[in-house]
Amino acid sequence: MTGDFLSRHRAHDYPRLIERWRAVAERAGLALRRFTKGPEGLYCVRGKRLPREGTIYISAGIHGDEPAGTEALITWAEANTRLLRRRPFFLVPCINPWGLANNSRIDSRGRDLNRKFQSNAAAEIAGLKRAIGRLRFSLALMLHEDYDGLGIYIYELQGACPYWGEALLEAARPHVPADTRGMIEGREAVGGLVRRTVDMSLFKRIGMPEAIYLHLRGCPRVFTVETPSEYGLDRRVRAHVAVIEECLRKLSRTRA
Ligand SMILES: [Zn+2]
Repeated sequence: MTGDFLSRHRAHDYPRLIERWRAVAERAGLALRRFTKGPEGLYCVRGKRLPREGTIYISAGIHGDEPAGTEALITWAEANTRLLRRRPFFLVPCINPWGLANNSRIDSRGRDLNRKFQSNAAAEIAGLKRAIGRLRFSLALMLHEDYDGLGIYIYELQGACPYWGEALLEAARPHVPADTRGMIEGREAVGGLVRRTVDMSLFKRIGMPEAIYLHLRGCPRVFTVETPSEYGLDRRVRAHVAVIEECLRKLSRTRA
């Protein structure tokens, strides 16, 4: 049994993931708040007193077969408890725990939760929206993976300029190079960057993703990061962590 197999297995252990978050929250003085009922709690980890504007949103694990996202977010948080204390964060460790445990994109009821933000029909999404409340985010980062990916790629929603997508891909490059396909998931891509506009008619048809929801409620920078599942877990985790770190570096510079 190789170390890689063990780490891949551990990356699907939801109770252990939440235990790690509990420890981080304690060390960083953050609140670990459960926002759903039911046997598997869904949690956010957030500053106890967040400003109305300027909080940083990072989420993972809405698709359970994309474990580098959940693993990267906790790995980054464990190494940055002082930063977590200093800056305003709203973190969502894993939105689809059943999917994570069962290596499944969909949840136990066959739903793709990333197509459910148009309503409150899914209790998980309704709970998340309630937990967000009236917070306004300066940046939203969603950590995903793609089985068809040939490298890392990023969706950047049209918003604040100058755009950051290229710099984020560059930051990830030492770990995972960019996907060079000209078309990704039916959209035009350049060097791993898919810069998209919001086509509401599409989302009326297929359901609304988390990224679009956050964009529509006014977040000026929304990124969906996709690492290629065929690469080793450690590299995918490091690529996600590099993107998180580059986002925070750029945000600090913007504030200065
Ligand atoms: Zn995904």
